[in-house]
Amino acid sequence: MSFGGILDSIKDIFFPVNCLNCAKEGDFVCEECLKTLDLSGVFCCPVCHQENKTGDYCLGCQPLFIDAEIAVTKYDEQDLIGEIMHCFKYQYVEDLEKTIEKMIASFLSNNDLPEFDAITFVPLHGRRYIERGFNQSEKIAVILAKKMHKPVVNLLKRTRYTKPQAKFKRQERLVNLKDAFEFCYKKQDFKNKNVILVDDVFTTGSTMQECAKVLKSNKVAKVIGFSLARG
Ligand SMILES: [Zn+2]
Ligand SMILES: [Zn+2]
Repeated sequence: MSFGGILDSIKDIFFPVNCLNCAKEGDFVCEECLKTLDLSGVFCCPVCHQENKTGDYCLGCQPLFIDAEIAVTKYDEQDLIGEIMHCFKYQYVEDLEKTIEKMIASFLSNNDLPEFDAITFVPLHGRRYIERGFNQSEKIAVILAKKMHKPVVNLLKRTRYTKPQAKFKRQERLVNLKDAFEFCYKKQDFKNKNVILVDDVFTTGSTMQECAKVLKSNKVAKVIGFSLARG
């Protein structure tokens, strides 16, 4: 057994993990409960959010900044996925990362992602990062990158502290986010590269569109929106 494996066994003895859903000891979400989630993937038009097979624009929609909208599963606040996302955002636990990894693996076994060069993520403001100690979108990006054997690059940073989006109505969300992000990657340019942009939950898409706008104005060719759950 590896050192990590031994450490895991010791942790299991002293700090057992119980399934978030059925309380069975062992995993953060046990295999049976994980099976209740539909991880076959959600692909939508990035503008009207109508579901389709690829996540591309539908014929009648005017392209904005995101080129495709892809999620692992549908979001439901009242359901297990709501609890998973809530825990992931507010009380980070290492074991939950294994659950997220299983979810992404299951999604990838059912679907192909469009061609891309690198993975980036919606940044948190430094102040919120310090409050939480981690960025849940970055964690998802790292897991996806590991599975896809692609690099994670931090391309964006928040230029100002914005209030949580959930407090706003759709129109106000856009105003809240205006010029909230800037391109922060200096090592090489991402000209003509295709990038996957990760956020934890995709709701109206205004955060992703604002991030994608900055990426596109820095010559990124394609921005594929990827989230764990589609609200
Ligand atoms: Zn369970
Ligand atoms: Zn559409």
